[in-house]
Amino acid sequence: MTKWVYTFGDGAAEGQADMRNLLGGKGANLAEMCRVGVPVPPGFTITTEVCTYYYENNKTYPEDLKQQVLDALKFIENKMGYKFGDKENPLLFSVRSGARVSMPGMMDTVLNLGLNDETVEGLAKRSNNKRFAYDSYRRFIQMYADVVMGVSSTRFEKVLDRVREENGYKYDNQITEEQLKSVIQEFKTICEEEGKPLPQDPMEQLWGGIGAVFGSWMVDRAIYYRKLNNIPGDWGTAVNVQSMVFGNSGDNSATGVCFSRDPATGENYFYGEYLKNAQGEDVVAGIRTPQPMTKLVKERSGTDLPCMEEEFPDLYAQLNDIRHKLEAHYKDMQDMEFTIQDGKLWMLQTRNGKRTGTAALRIAVEMVREGLIDKKTAIMRVDANQLDQLLHPTFDKKAKKEVLSTGLPASPGAAVGQVVFSAAEAEKTASEGKKVVLVRIETSPEDIAGMHVSQGILTARGGMTSHAAVVARGMGKPCVSGVSDLRIDYEGQFLKVGDTVLKAGDMISIDGTTGQVIKGELPLVVAEMAGNFGEFMSWVDEIRTLHVRTNAETPKDAETARRFGAEGIGLCRTEHMFFDPSRINHMREMILADNEEDRRKALDKLLPYQRQDFIDLFKIMEGLPVTIRLLDPPLHEFLPQKEADQVELAQSLGVSLEDIVARTAALHEANPMLGHRGCRLGVTYPEISEMQAQAIFEAAVKVMQETGKDFVPEVEIPLAATKKELDLIKQRVVKMAEKVMKETGKTFKYKVGTMIELPRACLMADKLAETAEFFNFGTNDLTQTTLGVSRDDAGSFLPDYVTKGIYPADPFASLDQEGVGALMQLAAKKGKGVRPDIEIGICGEHGGDPASIDFCHRIGLDYVSCSPYRVPIARLAAAQAAVRNG
Ligand code: PEP
Ligand code: MG
Repeated sequence: MTKWVYTFGDGAAEGQADMRNLLGGKGANLAEMCRVGVPVPPGFTITTEVCTYYYENNKTYPEDLKQQVLDALKFIENKMGYKFGDKENPLLFSVRSGARVSMPGMMDTVLNLGLNDETVEGLAKRSNNKRFAYDSYRRFIQMYADVVMGVSSTRFEKVLDRVREENGYKYDNQITEEQLKSVIQEFKTICEEEGKPLPQDPMEQLWGGIGAVFGSWMVDRAIYYRKLNNIPGDWGTAVNVQSMVFGNSGDNSATGVCFSRDPATGENYFYGEYLKNAQGEDVVAGIRTPQPMTKLVKERSGTDLPCMEEEFPDLYAQLNDIRHKLEAHYKDMQDMEFTIQDGKLWMLQTRNGKRTGTAALRIAVEMVREGLIDKKTAIMRVDANQLDQLLHPTFDKKAKKEVLSTGLPASPGAAVGQVVFSAAEAEKTASEGKKVVLVRIETSPEDIAGMHVSQGILTARGGMTSHAAVVARGMGKPCVSGVSDLRIDYEGQFLKVGDTVLKAGDMISIDGTTGQVIKGELPLVVAEMAGNFGEFMSWVDEIRTLHVRTNAETPKDAETARRFGAEGIGLCRTEHMFFDPSRINHMREMILADNEEDRRKALDKLLPYQRQDFIDLFKIMEGLPVTIRLLDPPLHEFLPQKEADQVELAQSLGVSLEDIVARTAALHEANPMLGHRGCRLGVTYPEISEMQAQAIFEAAVKVMQETGKDFVPEVEIPLAATKKELDLIKQRVVKMAEKVMKETGKTFKYKVGTMIELPRACLMADKLAETAEFFNFGTNDLTQTTLGVSRDDAGSFLPDYVTKGIYPADPFASLDQEGVGALMQLAAKKGKGVRPDIEIGICGEHGGDPASIDFCHRIGLDYVSCSPYRVPIARLAAAQAAVRNG
């Protein structure tokens, strides 16, 4: 018999923390909390396997599930001393989803399940609080109707709005017992009018709730969230059925969300929010402004609201102990939910808290210092992609700014963009290449795609644990929430703070680190790698074995990359150096020349520029390896396409416009990727390779002489398919090296190698290695020439030309390990077979992608090379690969 149901409660549990695949994160942690002696309301978890079964069997359940649920019900009834459906002493449940990894707000929850016309009276009697009982019942009807019966909550909200308005109430909790009674009647009528009476049978309610949670696994927003976070659809969700405890049963009750450390900054203090006499949804929904947990936070935020430490000192102390206990137990920062019911504290959830990159790093470093975790664990705790947040610019502190208001610093970082008022508008404007800041009264799960494309998020309502705050932190986007004096007019498409009005499209700046909302576009400054960051990166460098270089050809990029710890240049694309206005015409002259002599004349003019470029780079790199690629793109890319530019070129070269047009047409490549480009240019016009080799070697000698330090320049031949191509070009390069040595009287070492960008090159790598002294995988081209694939939404494979068009390769997609990766592995093996000390790297965009870097580590590459801002990410990913793979 399969066990589908696992119970927990009162110091014992059938499950435990390491069963998250089966019980989901929430279920596994509820069980674990019981085991470590934390007070948890008893309940049971229906496994993720039931979810899988449900979808594989036409939305039906396994036969023996029903009996197991009934047995679990008995268990809870015994623990609580209440009975499900009992008129006198009713047991009530919350029914919640719980996947392996948390998907905040993405799936459905039903609270107060088990209430009906009779049990509500029992609850009223037991709690000695009729108003509370009726309020719970109306909340139940509203949630159940929405989640299970598909009745939109708008109609219910309208009823509540009307009652508030008629009586001049500001909050729902002012609605009286009698008024709630008639609200309940109206709610039930709404259900009937929508065609489905509210079930009075608690068992029917329970199965409805369970079915709704499983159903919510496949709703659009959950699917979208999974796609965004690479969560496989077949993991399924578990369902947690847990006895209700009420934070809204009076003034000796409360509910809250807290973190064992600050999830935005990582600082080690008790962080969180709570609300007296409220249910959990009230804290997260952002309708009432939550109260701080501690005196410290109260002081810092300058709020007048009382904090938990003052209002419930004993329970606060107990909770603070639990905070330390759980953090020590899980050895990670915890995100916890709790409820106080009539003076008793209950823990409803704990999980490893989501955090910003900044917080992840600080927590990891401090936990090592506290002796809680070791350096390797610390390295695995920071998501490499999240480091991005630490590298990005912050606002220039010296810049003058007009601060409109200050809200809560919900997710750190600086964001500048045009004001947009809806997620749809954010997506539309961002797709035009513009930067946007999404401004909402509050956000909801439907806004997630719009949040994703925004630079930052600004909300008028909501606390630090509101939807906007939690999701923004998860995405690493700056967010300012709860700006109470911000008025937003969706219809009029403007916002107002004090007397300032900003319309949709106006520029705004928000600082998620300070909570400031600033008018206009504030200037940004670059990030520093100091303090905790520097220390963390030094551990990263101790552990990793892969070297990390950068793709750079400008001094600025090379300097940035060195600041971020690059250990060399893995790819210098020389063609980028010819686009400068001072050179492009010499380049065009060279391209349009119809004989070698004229080509050489034009090349002679380019030589000094090119030499100076390399001098600059060699100086900045101070002896670190620099791989310089000979000219690669098809020549038509250098020619002007617009008529005005063609006229200008014709004049400056003293030829006719027709001539230019005809030559441009003749050079046009129907398939630029496979045409006359790469080493084919050097084969047909060897003088180009010669000029570049001369510039490289003369620059190297000059820098070696000036600094007195020798280094080994690397000359790279692109896109080779055969050994013959390499031989033809290498021969010219070697001759040039000898010539420069002779002329300067300086002998030096250098390497000649090739970029591997064609499947044929991989297959013939042993032959190529006879000539090439290094390989560098150009996986952008190699992905395309292999027809490399990426996974589609359903997890199956599609060729990239279907998913993203042929060129360029998607820089954010991971390496196609089965196709492109297999070719790389073969090429590396063949290359090493012929030349054991051959140096092998990667310089396609995948060189900066953590999953691809893991692969490169496993197949034994020497280095990865990526754009400057990805260098720290690559260093961390390389260290993680070393830890993961030993
Ligand atoms: C590549 O093809 O992977 C590469 C780095 O070269 P480019 O992107 O310049 O074609
Ligand atoms: Mg290429």
